[in-house]
Amino acid sequence: MDCPYVDCNADHFQNGDTHCGNCSRQLKPCKKCGMPNRSFAVYCRECGGALPDSASDWPVFKGSSQAIGVNRFVISARVSELSIEEMGAFQLPDRCKALLMYEDHLFAISQSGEVKIIDVSQEPVKERISFNAGGNIYAVPALHQGSLYVGTEKSLQAYSLGHLFPQAPSARPRWELPLSGTPIRSLVPVENRLFLMLACPDRRHQIHVVNDIQTDPPEPPIKVYAGSHLSSMAGHFMAKSKKIYFLSDEGAGRIKLHFMEHAAGSNPERVSLPLKRPPSEFRKQIPIAVIGAKIFTVFRKEETLYRLDANSGEIDSLICKNVKNFAMASISDPVVINSRGLFLKRMNQQIDLEDGQTIKGSPLVLKDCAVALGMGDGNIRLYDIRNPGSFKICEVSDRPTDQITTMAAVKDIIAAGNDKGVVKIYRLR
Ligand SMILES: [Zn+2]
Ligand SMILES: [Zn+2]
Repeated sequence: MDCPYVDCNADHFQNGDTHCGNCSRQLKPCKKCGMPNRSFAVYCRECGGALPDSASDWPVFKGSSQAIGVNRFVISARVSELSIEEMGAFQLPDRCKALLMYEDHLFAISQSGEVKIIDVSQEPVKERISFNAGGNIYAVPALHQGSLYVGTEKSLQAYSLGHLFPQAPSARPRWELPLSGTPIRSLVPVENRLFLMLACPDRRHQIHVVNDIQTDPPEPPIKVYAGSHLSSMAGHFMAKSKKIYFLSDEGAGRIKLHFMEHAAGSNPERVSLPLKRPPSEFRKQIPIAVIGAKIFTVFRKEETLYRLDANSGEIDSLICKNVKNFAMASISDPVVINSRGLFLKRMNQQIDLEDGQTIKGSPLVLKDCAVALGMGDGNIRLYDIRNPGSFKICEVSDRPTDQITTMAAVKDIIAAGNDKGVVKIYRLR
């Protein structure tokens, strides 16, 4: 068995090796025949069997399908003992809009549509490719089964990642579907479908679905819902049941909870439930999160974070008040940004920020280790999740007017981008 990367000549592999001993890049071993395959490969190059998708999600500011904002890799050190090593930095032409980390690669996307793909499996980190999607980007792109899906103002584009590894790598465009005058606000892939929320010029929102996204090109998007006040979409995907949820505000205090059930082969079916006794309108700017059949959303009245039951449409419990943003470390354990700073519900501990300090966006939870906060002074802070009295700083920029716009983590690596397009990558040990 040889290394699947064409610029590497290694040919001795143990069954199940997850990295090449020679070039150190990630391998996806085939469960059937043991053949090592490249990162992002969807099918085995030897036997043609289906390869598993990466187990690592991409918790960019809650941008993975569940939107809970948790990197599940366990870093066993306490924050006070953590060594923070800068692995590299690079510059986007303008504001960093989104970071995704997946299978040893960082995807950095700028507001104007610049996409850079960085290999973080080696040090120093190595830029493998950059291209421009040709339009402003308002939605976090999605990674799914070896392809990158990017929504611009005018189109939805799919790029194959299977060509990242030769000496002259490329992100091969697979298809582009035109969309006129409707920026994409969010993208959620599930198996062979991609759900997109469009913000239309009349301020209404529409949800569309693209079927057969593995086909080049697929049929144009089909509208599945339209409404004036929709929440973001989030989904929970299990082997047997794959559901995408969102809320709609119907006016006069009425709120509906919707889910679309993905069933292979048939059209997605939408079910709508009236939410029983909602406390107020929900806050549309704060993304919803999903764990199992529980939905987490913030209501306007007293900025309360509630847990909703998707099966009954009932409010399950009030989790926390005064919530500006949140991540869900578990089904009853929110990490909350409030008007004073950071609040850890499980510890019942409030950490007040110093005067003049602000937190940007939502927290990123590094499981059992730290809460990462993007700060208004251009740095990220890591608070120990068990003992949040002190914190460590990763200095992304030395100019205090720069602001963190987004963060992402995979394994023991965290990356942050700012409003000037600077992106830095750190390893935490
Ligand atoms: Zn190799
Ligand atoms: Zn195989």
